[in-house]
Amino acid sequence: MECLLCGTIINWQPTLWDLLCFKKLTPPRVCARCSQSFTKIGNADRCRGCGRQRGNLCEDCQRWQQKLGWIIHNQSLFEYNDAMKDYMQRYKFMGDYRLRQVFSHELTTLVCQQNADLIIPIPINQHTWQTRGFNQVTAMLDCRYSVDIIGTKAGNKEVFQSQKGRQQRLRTSQPFVLLNKDEICQKSILLVDDVYTTGRTIYHAATLCYQAGCRSIKSITLAS
Ligand SMILES: [Zn+2]
Ligand SMILES: [Zn+2]
Repeated sequence: MECLLCGTIINWQPTLWDLLCFKKLTPPRVCARCSQSFTKIGNADRCRGCGRQRGNLCEDCQRWQQKLGWIIHNQSLFEYNDAMKDYMQRYKFMGDYRLRQVFSHELTTLVCQQNADLIIPIPINQHTWQTRGFNQVTAMLDCRYSVDIIGTKAGNKEVFQSQKGRQQRLRTSQPFVLLNKDEICQKSILLVDDVYTTGRTIYHAATLCYQAGCRSIKSITLAS
């Protein structure tokens, strides 16, 4: 099999242990060298808000706490380093749909471990559907999730978060609408997104869930 990122042939044989476990086999989708270019976020020194390695509660999260009176507990798998930026460029902006497989297993595993009542992937708007053709988050998730609870506002043009500066991102107005309030009431919610940058997108979605009376809310992103 070829590495999805660089095309190198991967020689992979399941071990005897893999075969004896009767688990679904997950052959690597990228070679060891590409895999090493991504940096996992360790457990040490994690901010209990954004989950980045910035100490107990980082300045960004302290500002959210002041502004909203609550913070979301986010967990991310990888640092948003150059390799991850390059990956996102190819996957999202060049629309290479095959690349959903690179992190699908790891992301799905972490999402399922949370045992949330509802898994809600952050939706993409009409414009992105038309240009990219797929939601980069749901494409990676190999589990049950709900896409009929939060939608994007019609005519919303707040698409290119990634092209904005930090202050601009933080000023972005609410791009989402709640489609199904009753479903959320008293439930534990897990939001899933690709990248946590300022937190603005996640907090917009989380605010709607809080207003609808969810019991608890957390989020997971692939990178931050
Ligand atoms: Zn490779
Ligand atoms: Zn933080």
